[in-house]
Amino acid sequence: MSILEISFRMLEQHPLCDHCLGRQFALLGHGIENDERGKAIKLASTLAAHQLALSKSNEGIRILKILATNGFSKTAKSILQKMKKRIPRKNLPNACFLCKNKFEGITDLIEKALQKLEGYEFNSFLVGIELPVLVEEREYEFKADFNVSYGENMRNEFGRIIGKKIAERNGKTADYQKPEIVVLANPFSGEISLQVNPLYVSGYYKKLVRGIPQSKWFCSNCRGKGCEKCNWTGKMYPESVEELIAKQLLDFTGGVKASLHASGREDIDARMLGKGRPFVIEAAKPQKRFLDLKKLEDAINTYAKGKVEVSNLQFADKSIVRKLKNSERARKEYHVFIEFENKISTRDLRTLEEKLTNALVKQKTPVRVLHRRADLTREKYIYTVKLKKLSLKKAEMKILCQGGLYVKELVTGDEGRTTPSVSEILKNKAKPIKLDVLNIIMED
Ligand SMILES: [Zn+2]
Ligand SMILES: [Zn+2]
Repeated sequence: MSILEISFRMLEQHPLCDHCLGRQFALLGHGIENDERGKAIKLASTLAAHQLALSKSNEGIRILKILATNGFSKTAKSILQKMKKRIPRKNLPNACFLCKNKFEGITDLIEKALQKLEGYEFNSFLVGIELPVLVEEREYEFKADFNVSYGENMRNEFGRIIGKKIAERNGKTADYQKPEIVVLANPFSGEISLQVNPLYVSGYYKKLVRGIPQSKWFCSNCRGKGCEKCNWTGKMYPESVEELIAKQLLDFTGGVKASLHASGREDIDARMLGKGRPFVIEAAKPQKRFLDLKKLEDAINTYAKGKVEVSNLQFADKSIVRKLKNSERARKEYHVFIEFENKISTRDLRTLEEKLTNALVKQKTPVRVLHRRADLTREKYIYTVKLKKLSLKKAEMKILCQGGLYVKELVTGDEGRTTPSVSEILKNKAKPIKLDVLNIIMED
């Protein structure tokens, strides 16, 4: 069957606007829009019907009447008027069977979307279309009834047109993989909403003081609601590395919430020194993305002065979050001050260096974290250990090891759950006084 014949069968049964008729043949011809296709098909049909009508064919008049009503064709209408033929009033369609004339509202939708987007900085976007289920079902059945095989669906057409117009108007790029903003449009309700994707900034942080957790630690009593025990803050500690970095990021971006992801975490009582720990901080629903990262770095470092220091800030994307989480195996360098129960000799320290360098340590989950971690045995490798005597019963130890080694337990032995350990090797009870993370060596 020819395009004109199929189209006529469609229009005979249903009123269709130019977009919806043309869309059924969207894969035929390139570089034209569906409404132009629909208009061309209707015009060609009108001319053919006019020819028939001039040869006194009733069939010609019938086709013209259908084109004038179900096809919304002004040309067919004026031909009928000239031929003094009546257009049946009762058949006058109100709206397109498929889209209910919603393509007429597309300019308003685009204006509304552009207005909403005005409050945001972005480079890339994507348009998502929400349609009532009934509308999609109706189109699905329609396509099945008429065996449509060169068509596009309505969702696609709305998305394509709106996306193209937005890109034209504000010079932004449509991005199907990682759009910064998704414009959600519902042509039937006329609603537009924005899904603003997070902004990620990566860098390194140092924690210069002890006693600050990495992320906000909710009060164990009230779980964040606020109670007497936490002085109505909902938190166990007044500030965290996350909050100290987040404050400025939220001020710069106008985001609603910030979360920190890092390659592991130091204990609250450990400092993070050296080059710092790799992290990425995520700002949710940012209004501004075109940040001067040097300025942001300065602002964070001024705000968190003496506590936290960030460096090497860079724009990142979501994939870095997983990369950081998978970096458990990264090598880590620690510095720990140890106090012994009994006196130590220089020889003891050499023994420790010998026995712990290139050692494989077996660790059962430490007693202190058993309440939140499964009881497993882990094997972690130590690359090097260096010790220095500080006084009769005190020494400092520098250790380079596989990530995930519990250093405090390596010192104490954790009641035999970690072996070998400093206590075990010297048969002299040892405890860590201060712990610092010196370096985290990421493999790229
Ligand atoms: Zn339509
Ligand atoms: Zn509380």
